Amino acid sequence: MNQSKQKVFFKTFGCRTNVVDSQIMMSKLEDFDVTLDEHEADIVVINSCTVTNSADSTARGYINGLKKFHKNPRIVFTGCGVWTKGETLFNESKIDSLFGASEKENINTLLKNDNRFFEAGDLNHIDNTIIEDMIGKSRAFIKIQEGCDFRCSYCIIPYVRGNSRSYSEEKILEQITLLASNGFGEFILTGTNLGSYGKGIDGKDGLALLLKKISNIKGVRRIRLGSVEPIQITNEFKEILDEPWMAKHLHIALQHTTKEMLNLMNRRNKLKSDLELFEFISEKGYALGTDFIVGHPGESDFIWQEAMKNIHRFPLTHLHGFTYSKRDGTPSASMPGQINGDIAKKRLAELTAIIDEKNYKFRASRGSLDILIENEKDGKYFGYDQYFNSIEVTSKADLIGDWINISEYTIEKLNNKANF
Ligand code: SF4
Repeated sequence: MNQSKQKVFFKTFGCRTNVVDSQIMMSKLEDFDVTLDEHEADIVVINSCTVTNSADSTARGYINGLKKFHKNPRIVFTGCGVWTKGETLFNESKIDSLFGASEKENINTLLKNDNRFFEAGDLNHIDNTIIEDMIGKSRAFIKIQEGCDFRCSYCIIPYVRGNSRSYSEEKILEQITLLASNGFGEFILTGTNLGSYGKGIDGKDGLALLLKKISNIKGVRRIRLGSVEPIQITNEFKEILDEPWMAKHLHIALQHTTKEMLNLMNRRNKLKSDLELFEFISEKGYALGTDFIVGHPGESDFIWQEAMKNIHRFPLTHLHGFTYSKRDGTPSASMPGQINGDIAKKRLAELTAIIDEKNYKFRASRGSLDILIENEKDGKYFGYDQYFNSIEVTSKADLIGDWINISEYTIEKLNNKANF
């Protein structure tokens, strides 16, 4: 390693899209070294999230913390926050420089510029980078799409990520082929609105076609998908659900389970069809997760009770639940009927308890598990099975990065445990 190279630490906030973007940036650094220790960094690149006002505050808090670091690193800001708080942070000199996600492939040149720079870029860009390795990961995250055409009332994403556009199929397949030949077996497809991938390709379902092609690549063992929207599950997609290479877990974003709230949120999914879809997929043996926003403006006690009555009917196993958090600049931020934070927290706890119970019952009804071990802590190994349930494995062997099959395990309240 060249000692004279400056060290760059990446602080990634937010979703998997940002995780991939950080990997792309790391792969583009030629004149710098990546460090995994922020205290030894000469430069900290903050890949920010701006999904809520509190995400902005988190980034601000992190920046303030960096100022106290012994090395006083240069602070370079990128990610979704560029389009909301970026300019203010720059003008207040809280950050040294800023660049938009569209500029990330030029990071090496940008960082070589010792002067302050402000390169917000545009919202139409699509990356061209092929990554050879995923630093610090056992599973490969592959971005296949960027941006969103939906306009959910609470969401700022389309304004900071642009409208939906897809990566070229050729590039995606080339990327996966390379990573598969470098030992990756599990691929997680991500995007801002993943299910819009290839929209309108010959009137066919672009995502289903792509999945089939990926499954034919040598070394691909399991494919997972990030979040998809209920209306994006087409008949072509349903046909591939029985394929052995599909991870038996889908994350389908409902956001709510009442007609009133789905309307207020300007969602495209409908309660009745959501329920039919979940039942169909669950009958195929799938675990099903969802996003759920609790305490969005207008969620009266009556509506909440109805939502919980409905949630019992959904065969859910996983939850990404969060209390509504205001995002300035969105329609929801100025809606009447804002919900008290303590009420929202109580509701979230109620919802979480219901899904935890459903998850326990689901785990108790499974057979053998295919697990990819991802990390180790104090002699225990951790990974996920095909249903996206975590498992803790005690073993004397070094299992990191290994695929193991386990049919004897104990089902505990929060996860499964086994000896191997
Ligand atoms: S589907 Fe809705 S919530 Fe998801 S990114 Fe698009 S606008 Fe935001």
